Amino acid sequence: MTFLRRQLPAFLAAVFCCSLACLYPAFASTARVSGIRFWNSEQYTRVAIDLDGEADFETRFLPASSDGKLPPRILIDLKGAVIHEDFLRKPVEVRNGLLKVVRAGRFKPGVVRVVIDLEKTCSYQSFTMVDPYRIIVDVDGQGIGDSCPVPPLGDPVPQPDTDTIHPQLRAPEPVVIPGSVPAAHPIPQPVPEPVPQDPAPQATSPQAAPKAVSQAPAPAAPGFRVMLDPGHGGKDPGAVGLNGLREKDVVLEIGRLVREKLQKEGGCEVRMTRDTDVFIPLEERTAMANKARSDLFVSLHINASNNRKAEGISTYVLSRAGSDRAALELAARENGVPVAKLTGVKFILDDLTLFGRKKDSMKLAKTVNDAIVRNLSGKYGQVHNLGLKQAPFYVLVGARMTAVLVESAFISNERDEKRLRERACLETIADSVVEAIRYYSRNGGIAPRVGI
Ligand SMILES: [Zn+2]
Repeated sequence: MTFLRRQLPAFLAAVFCCSLACLYPAFASTARVSGIRFWNSEQYTRVAIDLDGEADFETRFLPASSDGKLPPRILIDLKGAVIHEDFLRKPVEVRNGLLKVVRAGRFKPGVVRVVIDLEKTCSYQSFTMVDPYRIIVDVDGQGIGDSCPVPPLGDPVPQPDTDTIHPQLRAPEPVVIPGSVPAAHPIPQPVPEPVPQDPAPQATSPQAAPKAVSQAPAPAAPGFRVMLDPGHGGKDPGAVGLNGLREKDVVLEIGRLVREKLQKEGGCEVRMTRDTDVFIPLEERTAMANKARSDLFVSLHINASNNRKAEGISTYVLSRAGSDRAALELAARENGVPVAKLTGVKFILDDLTLFGRKKDSMKLAKTVNDAIVRNLSGKYGQVHNLGLKQAPFYVLVGARMTAVLVESAFISNERDEKRLRERACLETIADSVVEAIRYYSRNGGIAPRVGI
């Protein structure tokens, strides 16, 4: 009896908790919505929903209500999520001709509903990033057509209008709204050119350099726009060498050199996601490239490994899986997440077939990689060519243009670190990137954009 008296309250409490957890899975683990951010242009908006923990979610599109009172909208139901009272204020105003507002509230116990009110029917894609957990929704005003929204993989078909948020609770909180000002510069249209059947340079070794790349400068295809993305920055140093050289500083310098060289030659517009030592979230970098309607996105990095002897040059395009274990580990490190979490991420890579230019990206990646290998080998003797690879890099997800990520040395290798301190080495890498971009553009690599 004594035992029962002692244990019964605990037992009942446990039963009560289990019941609640069954009824409301949210009870077991709750994620709090902590912010809604967005970046937009007239035909593209990326919305990021920040949470302090992981939450399952479903998205679906609802057409405008038949009485015309509700616009077309995208619903994102976050299960096992809560939203703080302080967060329940007025909707996040976007009003860019594509989105009206983003609002959020408690839909039912344990479910937070975020509603993106649209000006018109749009296609969209959604995916998650972790550490910190955030749900990204890319809304496209021209994607597939004005009457055919494309739900993400696994979404239920559109349901009847149930966009209900309790009136008192309806209201989101714009915590951070960076980049909400439309692009300040006029956007020149790219010159559409057919992609040749075999535009990639044939060289795979430094000795077999493609003539076109090593020729004297020829005018690049006019009117295209390049977004250079020096990785890391600010609080994120990237990889650090044995003697203290930081990846963020090296790639910034390479980025500046590439910009300078491309601008000197003319024929294209060059932008950078950062040209100072500042931290920019990975999802914002891609959004910047999309917003600017860039034709090429080149993310600049320096590799690292626990094996201090590791060396070589590799260039990546986006894929769900890694080419090999090293590629996956690299992507995890660049994404700032453990490998286990990376493989569990719900990527929506059909995006690639709709918007991303994987084939083109592979051509550019190979061109860049071959040029760096060839030119560094010419300067330092044979360098190791790790080749063209694929991996799930966050910074490439959702890019609507030819997009590559370059790892142009190993900062963890003492010899490479020493070289990377030399201006001549950075110049050589920058020259190679410029050559590759020029070659790629001259050979029809700048194709008409789709989706924005
Ligand atoms: Zn990096």
